[in-house]
Amino acid sequence: MTLHSPQVPINVDPATGVWTTDNLPMIYMPRHFFINYHSAMEKALGEASYARALWDVGYKSAWQWCQRESATHKLRGLDVFRHYMQRLSQRGWAQFSVQSIDAATGSASIRLDHSVFVLGAGPDAGRKTCYLFASWFPGSLEWAARDEGRSWKLECTEVQCASEGSHDHCLFNTKPV
Ligand SMILES: [Zn+2]
Repeated sequence: MTLHSPQVPINVDPATGVWTTDNLPMIYMPRHFFINYHSAMEKALGEASYARALWDVGYKSAWQWCQRESATHKLRGLDVFRHYMQRLSQRGWAQFSVQSIDAATGSASIRLDHSVFVLGAGPDAGRKTCYLFASWFPGSLEWAARDEGRSWKLECTEVQCASEGSHDHCLFNTKPV
């Protein structure tokens, strides 16, 4: 196996130890810590309540990320969404590939390989495990639409998950509400 160095720029402030990528503060952590945290929250709140809370957190964070990265890289509209998918892939969440996107409506299909949740739960968990990602797509796509002077309201579902035991990758679809 050939190992690669990080493909994202990482800077560390010598005075504070704070990590940044594109001037955005980041936290570098072991995957097991994040998965343990996620599993504990899921157990404490119940999957449905936890997923609802995560929806808002993920939506807001995706929107903020797009806003910041658009300014930093002088990118607009759907190019920011594509840049988001690339950066998420480079930061180890999963390998995100946009299978299709309708630039008129926001209907899109995004494939995920090697999702952290599948790596955490295994391929035979018998359920979908990647719901934390669900609002990231509407958050970034609706931001992109607004940047292009349009207004989208999208919903998103993980239609298949590699944790279910019968698929080798995960698939998220967005469509107008
Ligand atoms: Zn999945």
